[in-house]
Amino acid sequence: MVRLPRRQLISALAFSAAAGSVTLRPSDPFISAKVSRLVPDPFTLGVASGDPWPSGVVLWTRLAPEPGEPNGLAGMARRSFPVEWQVSEDAGFRTIARAGRVFTDPNWAHAVHVEVDGLRAGATYFYRFRVEGHLSPVGRTRTAPDLLSKAEGSRFALASCANYEEGWFTAYRRLAEDDPDLVLHLGDYIYESPELGQPGARRVRGHEGFEAITLADYRRRHAQYKTDPDLQHAHAVAPWAVVFDDHEVDGNWAGFHPETPQPGFAGRRATAFRAYYEHMPLRRRSLPRGPFMRIYRRLGWGALATVHLLDTRQYRDDQVCGDTRAVGCHARLAPGRTLLGAEQERWLDRGLRASRTRWDLLAQQVCMAPRDTSSGPFGAYALDGWDGYASARRRLFESIVSSGVRNPVVVTGDVHRHYANDLALDGRTIAAELITTSVSSGGDGSRTTARIDVELAQNPGLHWADCRRGYVALTLDANQLRADFRTLPYVTRPGAPATTAASFALQDRRRGLARIA
Ligand code: FE
Ligand code: CA
Repeated sequence: MVRLPRRQLISALAFSAAAGSVTLRPSDPFISAKVSRLVPDPFTLGVASGDPWPSGVVLWTRLAPEPGEPNGLAGMARRSFPVEWQVSEDAGFRTIARAGRVFTDPNWAHAVHVEVDGLRAGATYFYRFRVEGHLSPVGRTRTAPDLLSKAEGSRFALASCANYEEGWFTAYRRLAEDDPDLVLHLGDYIYESPELGQPGARRVRGHEGFEAITLADYRRRHAQYKTDPDLQHAHAVAPWAVVFDDHEVDGNWAGFHPETPQPGFAGRRATAFRAYYEHMPLRRRSLPRGPFMRIYRRLGWGALATVHLLDTRQYRDDQVCGDTRAVGCHARLAPGRTLLGAEQERWLDRGLRASRTRWDLLAQQVCMAPRDTSSGPFGAYALDGWDGYASARRRLFESIVSSGVRNPVVVTGDVHRHYANDLALDGRTIAAELITTSVSSGGDGSRTTARIDVELAQNPGLHWADCRRGYVALTLDANQLRADFRTLPYVTRPGAPATTAASFALQDRRRGLARIA
């Protein structure tokens, strides 16, 4: 066996435990190249893949030998580096399906985005990178099934809200162990702030630096998150489709309005978008142009599912309430507000009408189900979500109904709790909303709280809730969509097991969630 740098060997072995076999062959020419002593191992951030289509997928890595460098360059020189990549049919890289070389740009933080095409539909592939003789960890990915494929038994994982300071990312590891075909990340992938998101929560580990404001800050923050081994592992086992929420930029931002007044917010938004693109396996069509970034998009998954990934931040048309708990906030609610923006609303309506798939997932950030907030259980978040945009929500619900879409399912993050909801228009159930809890934000949490009990009693469409950390595992068949709400007993210590706290199912052409376990 070839001698490898220890970290590389460990990551290869860690991957093999989940994915089968990664054999390092002495005859493998990719490995036997001379390793440069001038450049230290640049693959400290792992690898990722994303946005699969039937004949391809995006491969990602970023060269970062010193991810903690405050200047945001992660120890790389300000020149271009050639990075070779390989996609293989097998984990041992015996049968190379595609290979190539790209040049990094120091102005884009030496991030690598390869849009590999010419692959088989609905197939598993392995990929890796090499630069200056250094070999990256091996990632596994999948292409989307072709249009006619039934793709029964496909599994999607939902995740959101991973505050590094508030807990270990064990949920990412457990999610990876379920072997999903696709991971949908619904926002709050990083937290820009140095403070804890929730009062009273215990700080488990620290962010490097202060609040992210400059490009160097955001790059360093993303890099710190990507050094987490549980997160790296989850990226290495399956493709992800990501959308940002507020904390990738600034807490509760809306359109061009930050939560608290600050000069130059458009510039900060542009900066945050740029760093987000640099660190995510996104296609070139999502490349930001100044403070604009096209993140809403559609992914097809055979005849089984369409995923409409939405952007509920960038196109909001009005000012956010400085403090969403403030009484005066209600006075600022006006009809005609939009959460998606007119263009995205039309795009979604057209997409729902055109869809012929069995399931249509609306993957988005903020809580869509109405909440009675009079007793305060949800007050801090309610007006930042669809409750603050009731007329826009009504338009969306009417679009869902009039489009005739077969099985609409909204999947949501943001609120750091699991919720199973039915969504109703004028008293009639029209869709389901599955909300995934946080990966770590909020700390350990508890199964329920007094406030949740009130909320369950006051909101008839709400079936069930849980306030611990975790993720949601979806299994999609032609006749049924099943949601397993996975929870962890703790995240303030590493290594928690995951168990299914509740399971709900939807049947084809029937509205309304049913609890099955
Ligand atoms: Fe969050
Ligand atoms: Ca959020």
